[in-house]
Amino acid sequence: MTERDHRGLLIVYTGRGKGKTTAALGLVLRAWGQGLRCCVIQFIKSEKGRWGEVQAAQRLGLEWHTLGEGFTWQAADLGPSIAKAREGWQLAQDKLASGDYDLVVLDEFTYPLRFGWVDPAAAVEWLRAERSPRTHVVITGRDAPPALLEAADLVTEMANVKHPFDRGVRAQRGIEF
Ligand code: ATP
Ligand code: MG
Repeated sequence: MTERDHRGLLIVYTGRGKGKTTAALGLVLRAWGQGLRCCVIQFIKSEKGRWGEVQAAQRLGLEWHTLGEGFTWQAADLGPSIAKAREGWQLAQDKLASGDYDLVVLDEFTYPLRFGWVDPAAAVEWLRAERSPRTHVVITGRDAPPALLEAADLVTEMANVKHPFDRGVRAQRGIEF
């Protein structure tokens, strides 16, 4: 690949099947192995230490930020979740504009967009106009808004064919967390 071919891609992993976050992290592993500068920003999820991928990132020295309150859309007051999501988007903007990264993952970012906590049209326009043109960005989560799908260079939709939860099999360490 020549330098001329290098342009930052907008990649979206969406759909109702399992594999969106792990696909994004697989890409991080590949990029990191090539010496690319990577950063992961996780929206929604909390409990930083419990996740296998967070422990792996610590050992690899991968930059990782968790800006979530857990699955708090069940909570009475969404204020803290909304504030955290906006804080995460601000952090993402800083990283994406800096030119200091080759690959930035915004994990579960479709939810703040879907809930309108971050305006989808404005976010998509910002990604197009303001992010460093060489920085790849990966956005994961269900129900990616149409404006994001339209703007993306690469969209993969994970389809749910089967999931062990449907047979009552609980989440297992190393597979789900
Ligand atoms: P993974 O993190 O394993 O790549 P994902 O990012 O595609 O999964 P999310 O939509 O973020 O999945 O879902 C979070 C949790 O819900 C995960 O623990 C995942 O295994 C589980 N999950 C995903 N798809 C399904 C499904 N079709 N039925 C039941 N649970 C699911
Ligand atoms: Mg996920």
